[in-house]
Amino acid sequence: MSTFKHKPAVRGPSTEIIHSKPVSSAGFSALPVPVYRGSSTFFDNTAAQRATVNPLGLDYSYGLHGNPTQYTLAKKLAEIEGATHALVCPSGLTGIALVAQACLKSGDHWLIPENVYGPVQALARSLHMDYGVEFSEYDPCNASSVAEGLRTNTTLVWTEAPGSLTFEVPDLQAIVALAKAHGARTGIDNTWAAGIAYKPFEHGFDFSVQALTKYQCGHADVLMGAVLSNNTKAFADLERKNRILGLGVSPADCDLVLRGLLTLPLRYKQQADNGLLVATALKQHPAVARVLHPEFPECPGHAFYKRDFNGFASIFSIVLKAQYSDEQACAIIDNLKLFKIAYSWGGPESLGLVVNIPDSRRRHLADEHGRCGPILRLAIGLEEPADLIADLMQALDTTNRA
Ligand SMILES: *Cc1c(COP(=O)(O)O)cnc(C)c1O
Repeated sequence: MSTFKHKPAVRGPSTEIIHSKPVSSAGFSALPVPVYRGSSTFFDNTAAQRATVNPLGLDYSYGLHGNPTQYTLAKKLAEIEGATHALVCPSGLTGIALVAQACLKSGDHWLIPENVYGPVQALARSLHMDYGVEFSEYDPCNASSVAEGLRTNTTLVWTEAPGSLTFEVPDLQAIVALAKAHGARTGIDNTWAAGIAYKPFEHGFDFSVQALTKYQCGHADVLMGAVLSNNTKAFADLERKNRILGLGVSPADCDLVLRGLLTLPLRYKQQADNGLLVATALKQHPAVARVLHPEFPECPGHAFYKRDFNGFASIFSIVLKAQYSDEQACAIIDNLKLFKIAYSWGGPESLGLVVNIPDSRRRHLADEHGRCGPILRLAIGLEEPADLIADLMQALDTTNRA
């Protein structure tokens, strides 16, 4: 029950509605961070407004430049990953594009792994064609390929661990050492580790990008990314790009990710355990040639994974035996009843897709006759693993008989 003192109106209703003060929040304390909305953020006086002309960092000069909900999310992400700086941005891909823009100008060169998240290849091609930024690809299974790829104008070495779709784990320590000796900045797509299973700043990285869209959100209802750093100069370059491009994130979306974070370690672990059970069961099926999962010793870079990671995600791929056609692979996915056919991962629902990789990347996946069957990527959610295994087995068996 609330009672409010009635004051005689001295202003018209529209003015009263807009200018009447909110109730005080003093005495109210709770776990959730409020959703702070506001495009115009008020200054106390003109001097305060003039003092904050286009500053970077934690300021409240304009809604686009940040609000307490957004900064709280960035702070928590920095604490989780062990970074001193962080910003949130509209998607994981935006985060990677920001790192590229912060490190590369026309005439510079960057290195990306052959198994990089696909849209990063498109980004590199676009920066090359439109802005004259050079790039080349290295073999993530062979650090000497990074040494060979470095050029005098290389200013960024990009990494991803494990690689998209095929899950090879690179020797990140060796790659960072090579890049540093060369004077190039380093960045990692740390989405798979969700900021918890791998700590890039303990290993000398300048930038880490996380697609918060995946586990941090965790409920398949937000698109968002984050860039983290403990290199003050590099991060200032990035923040300036973010400001110039006018990127902003909805505080309501930040609220959803903040809620997701509360259960991130629990969900990550549970989904990883579920995923490993499913992956292990799939190894036994006669249609399956290989299961690509860093937990298995046959995964390229498994030793680096054991050395550097203390957890794993619930996404992996299976390679079908070489006699399986692409049509049959599609039929397996189409025959699944619990798995949805969709991109992304890290949500409560399990997802499956037939994926394509270039022939050059199939070489270490080939069987003893040099052949490699179709590849299915599976993202395991929070359903009962036994139900997921039964679903996969019936889909594989149905296609086996067809
Ligand atoms: C999903 C994903 C991204 C991009 O995240 P979006 O928020 O969808 O832009 C980047 N890297 C990896 C490894 C991803 O899985």
